Amino acid sequence: MSAIERMIGYLLAMSEPEKTNYDRREEWHRIHAEIMDKLDLSCKLEWSSHTKVGAHVFRDESSPCTCAIKVNPEGNFFAPQHLIMHEAAHHRNVINKFGVELDFDLSSIEQQCCLGGWSSGHCPHWAAELVECYRICDMELPRSTQFHEFAKAAHIEWKPFYPAIDGSVGRE
Ligand SMILES: [Zn+2]
Ligand SMILES: [Zn+2]
Ligand SMILES: [Zn+2]
Repeated sequence: MSAIERMIGYLLAMSEPEKTNYDRREEWHRIHAEIMDKLDLSCKLEWSSHTKVGAHVFRDESSPCTCAIKVNPEGNFFAPQHLIMHEAAHHRNVINKFGVELDFDLSSIEQQCCLGGWSSGHCPHWAAELVECYRICDMELPRSTQFHEFAKAAHIEWKPFYPAIDGSVGRE
């Protein structure tokens, strides 16, 4: 390949529009399936432009519960595994601790933080679950996170996260 051809190739690659999560859906589905298998969870993977980055939703109180990890198709989250782990930890933190019937035996402080409250569920209990998820999956931790409790629990850097497409800080 001549220098000029290399240059043209480089310029073409530069001008290629960035791929969205949905363009990479096969990769998302593959990674999602692997993680669900390892964590023995059955959260479905769904696309929703109503979610900023991602979210875990419980649909009803039936047993076994039906729930989903929603991902914004227009986003371009670089590493799907970290988002899926984040949402899976919400599932584990709520279901493993409170049970499907959300049996409120725990302290009211714990109920509040894990189910929303001051941290939107990003509490120390959730962070500990997330660290545990990485351990179970034998997966490398991210280098940084925007979630304070996770940064503390995993001993990684805290850094704000700016999704490239909608420009706003995501809330899962
Ligand atoms: Zn779930
Ligand atoms: Zn909590
Ligand atoms: Zn979250």
